[in-house]
Amino acid sequence: MTKLSIKEAAEIVHGKLFLPDAFSALKIKHIVTDSRTFFGDDDNLFFALKGPRNNGHEYITELQNRGIKAFVVSESEVVSGKAAFILVKDTTKALQKLAAHNRAGFHYPVVGITGSNGKTIVKEWLYELLSEEFRIVHSPKSYNSQVGVPLSVLLMENNYTLGIFEAGISQPGEMDKLAPVISPEVGILTNIGDAHQENFQSKQQKTAEKLKLFRNSKKLIFCSDDENTAGLVREFCIQYNIDPVSWSMKNRDAFACFSKTAENGTTRLKASVNGESAEFDVPFTDDSSIENVCHCFAAVWTLSKHPEKILPRFSQLAPVAMRLEIKRGINNCLLINDYYNSDLASLSIALSVLHHQAQKSHLKKVVVLSDIRQTGLPSGELYRQVNQLLEQWKVSQLIGVGKEISAHPELFSAEKKFFLSTKAFEKSFMRNDFKNSAVLIKGARTFTFEKISDLLQKKAHQTVLEINLNALINNLNVFRSRLNPATKITAMVKAFSYGSGDVEIAKLLQFQNVDYLAVAVADEGVDLRQAGVQTPVVVMNPEKHSFQNMIDFRLEPNIYSKDLMKAFEKAVAENALTAFPVHIKLDTGMNRLGFKTAEEVEEVVAFLQKTDRLKVASTFSHLAACDDPQMDAFTQQQFSRFEMLSRIITEGFPYKIIRHILNSAGIERFPEKQFEMARLGIGLYGISLTNLPLQTISTFKSIISQVKKLKPGETVGYNCRGKITSDAEIAIVPVGYADGMDRKLGNGNGEAFVKGKRVPVIGNICMDMLMLDVTGLEVQPGNEVEFFGQNISILEVAEKVGTIPYEILTGISQRVKRIYIHE
Ligand SMILES: *Cc1c(COP(=O)(O)O)cnc(C)c1O
Repeated sequence: MTKLSIKEAAEIVHGKLFLPDAFSALKIKHIVTDSRTFFGDDDNLFFALKGPRNNGHEYITELQNRGIKAFVVSESEVVSGKAAFILVKDTTKALQKLAAHNRAGFHYPVVGITGSNGKTIVKEWLYELLSEEFRIVHSPKSYNSQVGVPLSVLLMENNYTLGIFEAGISQPGEMDKLAPVISPEVGILTNIGDAHQENFQSKQQKTAEKLKLFRNSKKLIFCSDDENTAGLVREFCIQYNIDPVSWSMKNRDAFACFSKTAENGTTRLKASVNGESAEFDVPFTDDSSIENVCHCFAAVWTLSKHPEKILPRFSQLAPVAMRLEIKRGINNCLLINDYYNSDLASLSIALSVLHHQAQKSHLKKVVVLSDIRQTGLPSGELYRQVNQLLEQWKVSQLIGVGKEISAHPELFSAEKKFFLSTKAFEKSFMRNDFKNSAVLIKGARTFTFEKISDLLQKKAHQTVLEINLNALINNLNVFRSRLNPATKITAMVKAFSYGSGDVEIAKLLQFQNVDYLAVAVADEGVDLRQAGVQTPVVVMNPEKHSFQNMIDFRLEPNIYSKDLMKAFEKAVAENALTAFPVHIKLDTGMNRLGFKTAEEVEEVVAFLQKTDRLKVASTFSHLAACDDPQMDAFTQQQFSRFEMLSRIITEGFPYKIIRHILNSAGIERFPEKQFEMARLGIGLYGISLTNLPLQTISTFKSIISQVKKLKPGETVGYNCRGKITSDAEIAIVPVGYADGMDRKLGNGNGEAFVKGKRVPVIGNICMDMLMLDVTGLEVQPGNEVEFFGQNISILEVAEKVGTIPYEILTGISQRVKRIYIHE
């Protein structure tokens, strides 16, 4: 962002300035909205944003103490003489105004991307494709919200030559606010989903709202194959005098018309564009990737002077979800791989991930960094800024790879080593140089840093359960949007977070401000506390022998019997504590744990009224059949019993007591019964009863160990159950029933996804291995195999085995390594 005086900033956001003399010379260069990402520079301006669950005003005193001198606020009570304050009505709007002002100061082209799907992918791919020709500033991660868009646009500086920003909206009226912030010269409308999801009445209304981003654009790129959408776009282009740039898979009149042939995981695309033809390959075969590629192609042809030179780059595109992965490494190292692209903004984000991961496990911070290209900064200045970031995040060691970074050793203050190339690093690699460290491996794509990651990776079992943490956040937010903003959420993290690995998930949920975490037994709660989780934790099955642990680690029991209540009260008394929070379980029809009759509940209340040792934090019940519409009469009965029994409790005490009965399916089907809290389980992990737009969080996958050619008459596996009837190829994969691959999936019942195709399991599943029929696919050892994930749903696997998704998820054995992916 362009440097401003505090007075200028106040004028731009139309705020009232409170400026003690001591701060009158203050200059602003950086914007902070998250107190966790600030490090004591002089030129920061903090915007106290207000969300349904977070209020930036609460951090002002802390931030003043840590050295921030200027604040934009909307609550006048926080204004004091200890800093400069700009008082506005709405801090989010003020942030947008400042960003729009910054945007207006630059005259290089800006691309704006919106749509329901594909925004982030198209943005990242365009960045990859065009970064030789342009110096590009683009939205970090998927910063596309009312706050993310202004923060992205505030990254614009004079040294860039192209901006690429994405905008996402979830309700009418939002695009009006984002359009002036991005003000794109070239627009791209990506896929508009069919569902009337979000808060729109129709697909048409949704499209019209998204189009508002482009009112001042000169050109608009879109797919003309959906006639309704294309009609709306054409009318819009005429109304606002925009040059329409359409592409199509069938219509020769489009600006670009494509045909495609797919083979072995690669698609060859032929385009006719401007009367010329172009041919290129992409490493994808699925429809949505191809659609996103076509958007990129049209954009490259619109923006580049020599688009034909860019064609070979299309074959290098990689799936964007792979941008940042966290893995266990050798010698107690933790690896954070980010080899997708490399620039200052993404370095800064990756460093914050490194910091959080290192802090969690008390590890040293090490960064392996390649040359950073196409920033437009002179390299001395660039690496000085890199060093500043490394210092801010207290990185202890830098390993620089590349000719440019190696040319500036004097600019770096940490312990350092340099290598001219990735090859040079590989040659001198010593395993013992890396110990007890969190290692960020971040390089531009051409440096092929995956080789460095391979060296550092713990080579154990090749079979992994990959957990996409961004998808988890998405799913949490989908459920939040079904609930009132004030309704609290308990996230169920019992059974290793439904098999997904407890601590990582719990940490993330804490970061997302869920109100409670619930575990099955006390030991699971102790693990969370020892990993630094501070969110209140409820133990569903408290056992007497673990009461002392529960009290020491402040784990709150579910109280389901009088006996348990009395014993726990005694334990709290022995620790001389008062008002220890407990949760009263009511049995409204499940006939599992809990108090069932009004008399029992009255006795509980009478006991609790007489002791100050325990305090009722909440009372709850569990639904037995809310996923089944045929049982709705029963469910309604549960609701009325809950209302009757919980009233006895809430009326028994002078303080507020939270009531909750809904689980995931309950939130989907009976949101009107949300009371003050809901308990979210399977939905977080991606399973929806009513087709909510959830994302897949777990992928169970492995790697082919060996491929064999077999002749008719031969058989495969134990008991010779896999019969070969014509020339065949089989692949052996190191996944067996001991990993959680149910034996019922053998003999053609189960399938795997390999090289873009589904293939059947052949023969019986063994303890540690299984065989796939991969005839005709030309697979090789090392190829990846998915058993469930994006391509094969957990629901499908559960149906084939005759069980429910819960059992599939929690059945993946603990020896299968969990790998976390986080943007
Ligand atoms: C596991 C559990 C839940 C979560 O149920 P989902 O169907 O996974 O959402 C809610 N409440 C209780 C008491 C549970 O044990």
